[in-house]
Amino acid sequence: MKSHNLLIIALLTAFTFNVTAQTNESNMKTKVNKTEDEWVEELGEEKFYILRECGTEPPFTGKYYKHDEKGSYNCAGCGAMLFSSTSKYDSGSGWPSFYESIDKTAIKEIEDNSLGMSRVEIKCASCDGHLGHVFPDGPAPTGMRYCVNSASLDFKK
Ligand code: FE
Repeated sequence: MKSHNLLIIALLTAFTFNVTAQTNESNMKTKVNKTEDEWVEELGEEKFYILRECGTEPPFTGKYYKHDEKGSYNCAGCGAMLFSSTSKYDSGSGWPSFYESIDKTAIKEIEDNSLGMSRVEIKCASCDGHLGHVFPDGPAPTGMRYCVNSASLDFKK
């Protein structure tokens, strides 16, 4: 086998183990527990659909994809701080994108094989609210792209 084929296999293997390790790290306790009825009443239909039913807002429509004020992006479900504006960048995807979370314990990562794709879902570690997905195609320094629904976020200056 040619050496570049071996290199590709080595890289794929490293990537697979990395994703598995991240997924296993994320079994943190949910701190905010509410019934479905309580969430619907509190969030309204659009946010409920995204945060509690793992929905996705259409790209280029959310209120934060072009937002560049300085501050923090908190969970729209429970207020937990999730991302800093300093890690926000324009990924061109049409969704707010960040290269890192504000704190590694703020976000849970879960393997998601729905819709015929292999992805890593991101959720708020405090309330289990669905945020979006994280992809390994982001910029330096992390190389990660946290791709988040605007409806899952609440910006605070
Ligand atoms: Fe939350």
